[in-house]
Amino acid sequence: MPVNAEAVLFDLSGVLYEGSQLVPDANRVVDRARSMGLIVRFVTNTATKAREDILDKLGRLGISAEPDELYTAPTAAVDYLQANRLRPYCLVHEAIEYEFRSFHSDSPNAVLLGDARMKLHYDSLNRAFQLCMKGAPLIAIGKNRYFKTEEELQLDAGAFVTAIEWAAGIEAVIVGKPGKPFFDAVVASTGVDAGECLMVGDDLEGDVIGALDAGLQATMVKTGKFRPEDEAKLPETATLIDSVVQLFD
Ligand SMILES: [Mg+2]
Repeated sequence: MPVNAEAVLFDLSGVLYEGSQLVPDANRVVDRARSMGLIVRFVTNTATKAREDILDKLGRLGISAEPDELYTAPTAAVDYLQANRLRPYCLVHEAIEYEFRSFHSDSPNAVLLGDARMKLHYDSLNRAFQLCMKGAPLIAIGKNRYFKTEEELQLDAGAFVTAIEWAAGIEAVIVGKPGKPFFDAVVASTGVDAGECLMVGDDLEGDVIGALDAGLQATMVKTGKFRPEDEAKLPETATLIDSVVQLFD
């Protein structure tokens, strides 16, 4: 497909890699984007890996990435909590707990909910519910329905976010994709208009619809968590390619 953009935003899992495997030749596509003079950003809702580990993984897979090109939902959460002076009860994965250490508080006035895996149990979710019932805002790192490992689809944090929203009768603030503030922040970092930015993703809601709603262009890949049913729901303004490798074909 011909690309008419100044910046390309690559989702990571499902677009550039699946589990520990590189999507074949995805590293070359990133190199090609750079050689074409395009601004490159990596945008992910991954909340189970530290930033350094994500950059290490990209490096191991032969994908060149600078720290300031990586935009993660947990980092967006840190920014949001700081800007709003919140003291969150943190239900996040142990791999990213360090990002929120400075917010530690015995008297939380917010709930931060991410893909905390085994920490998402009755006691922790009940505490989150009780805080929200007392007026604490619910901050969700993402609201993805599922993610995909090499083997199969896995339940993501969106189901738990929805459970608290439903029980407490509130709406979460989503700081990662598909939230508009997240896309706005990445676009602002590129220095070009949203309409000059192309989001490439495998998640219909998080990547494609979120990007379009924020004024970006969007391309969906048929790798990662893509399912055949997604094609019928794909907005007309989005494009669809078999793999990121076809991005510049
Ligand atoms: Mg993805």
